[in-house]
Amino acid sequence: MSTLTALISVSDKTGILEFAQALHGLGVRLLSTGGTAKLLADAGLPVTEVADHTGFPEMLDGRVKTLHPKVHGGLLARRDVPEHMKALAAHGIATIDILAVNLYPFEATVAKEGCTLEDAIENIDIGGPAMVRSAAKNWKDVTVLTDASQYATVLAELKADGKTSDKTRFACSVAAFNRIAQYDAAISNYLSARQDDGSQGAYPAQMNATFVKVQDLRYGENSHQTAALYRDLFPAPGSLVTGKQLQGKELSYNNIADADAAWECVKSFDAPACVIVKHANPCGVAVATSPAEAYAKAFQTDPTSAFGGIIAFNREVDGATAEAVSKQFVEVLMAPSFSSQAREIFKSKVNVRLLEIALPPGGNTPWLQGRNAGDSKRVGSGLLLQSADNHFLQRADLKIVTQLQPSSQQLDDLMFAWTVAQYVKSNAIVFCGGGMTLGVGAGQMSRVDSTKIAAIKAANAGLSLKGSVVASDAFFPFRDGLDVLADAGASCVIQPGGSMRDEEVIAAANERGIAMVFTGVRHFRH
Ligand code: 5GP
Repeated sequence: MSTLTALISVSDKTGILEFAQALHGLGVRLLSTGGTAKLLADAGLPVTEVADHTGFPEMLDGRVKTLHPKVHGGLLARRDVPEHMKALAAHGIATIDILAVNLYPFEATVAKEGCTLEDAIENIDIGGPAMVRSAAKNWKDVTVLTDASQYATVLAELKADGKTSDKTRFACSVAAFNRIAQYDAAISNYLSARQDDGSQGAYPAQMNATFVKVQDLRYGENSHQTAALYRDLFPAPGSLVTGKQLQGKELSYNNIADADAAWECVKSFDAPACVIVKHANPCGVAVATSPAEAYAKAFQTDPTSAFGGIIAFNREVDGATAEAVSKQFVEVLMAPSFSSQAREIFKSKVNVRLLEIALPPGGNTPWLQGRNAGDSKRVGSGLLLQSADNHFLQRADLKIVTQLQPSSQQLDDLMFAWTVAQYVKSNAIVFCGGGMTLGVGAGQMSRVDSTKIAAIKAANAGLSLKGSVVASDAFFPFRDGLDVLADAGASCVIQPGGSMRDEEVIAAANERGIAMVFTGVRHFRH
């Protein structure tokens, strides 16, 4: 066997000395860059600096270390093409058979608080990825290692056969290109975000989004599905993934999906609010003067569904609130903070998952919501992307279309109902009154059915809909839905308008003595 040459140039030096020692033990010649070479030489290994090998010094603060034909020729030459080998000989270039490189820590650098653009730029590796690409392209002849977890397999094969298998070299090449793609995406993602003035929706950023794995999940929506949670490299402040779990069982896939719905909804309110979610839909939402009161009201909407619910608050959970919540079976409880009394109360409920999530600084503005929180959905082998549904309705946007005008109190409730409806699966019908949901109709294929269901649920909970307000996430295509909610006792409606039959629906509202406002905006949620 002719002597093999390995070039080693790593930023993360984990395991590299042992790997190099083992290579040396197998008779492999070692080439290395400045810092790595020093580490190996200090440990007594015979190592040639790349600068000595190329006859060209490292320069420009390390920006140019390995960008040399002696390196890239040695990596790229096809051993089975005589002209390639003749060219190497003519220029005095030796082949390089093994390349171990890991890159400047760009991702870790930009994740640090206070990282400047200059720090980030200096941590963009140039020569490392270039070598990795050369070696990965020439996988038939070169083994490229880009992660310490690969060292053992490669060593084992070298020990056994004096060379690596085709299978391993190909797998290493694929891993190398994946790593480079991920690395470049992180750079592009970071720099794009720097240029982003925030006015743009999220999908351009999502196209080159870099995700970081948070954890594997026990299973997906069902136990036969595998699943994992990833987060954006730069998560939006106040988003669920920035939270910290204080106690409780591991979060499941469904827990996380429901928790996100509850958290996004509760963040929308300025007043102390509580949102209880079951199967991705709010089954009780309320605002009040304190979190305990908000919880009591939210729970009232649908105590049956609230069992095993996911509960979110936009205020600290204090002792009184914790005491009240601890009486029900709760899967996940979220809040910006928990008082020590509250922590004490949940200490004995070891299964309850407590999540502490900071609210976004400066409030839940569209800017913050829209920046990173785009929406994506797989459709077969396609991917649908859209910016977040972050339209914030102002009172001034409302258009009153009926003879009857809503009172100021009714307008408050209409705005509240509209916010809740945004988080209810379509077709969404939400009856409200006094700052709380009274009946929620979700996820039906017909708006009339959603309206009927909302009314039935209110009746089941013993809540009166007399004088209630109603939000509909999209327009009423016919007057039938309006008749159902009028029969149930509603006094005002908020809906987008824009139906071909708006006139019919407005006439029905006037006939039934209902006030109605149009928002001009729809909130489908599927
Ligand atoms: P060392 O600690 O050995 O001095 O440097 C190792 C790091 O340098 C590795 O992360 C490797 O990817 C990177 N590197 C190797 N060659 C070059 C080059 O020509 N330019 C730049 N910018 N980085 C390089």
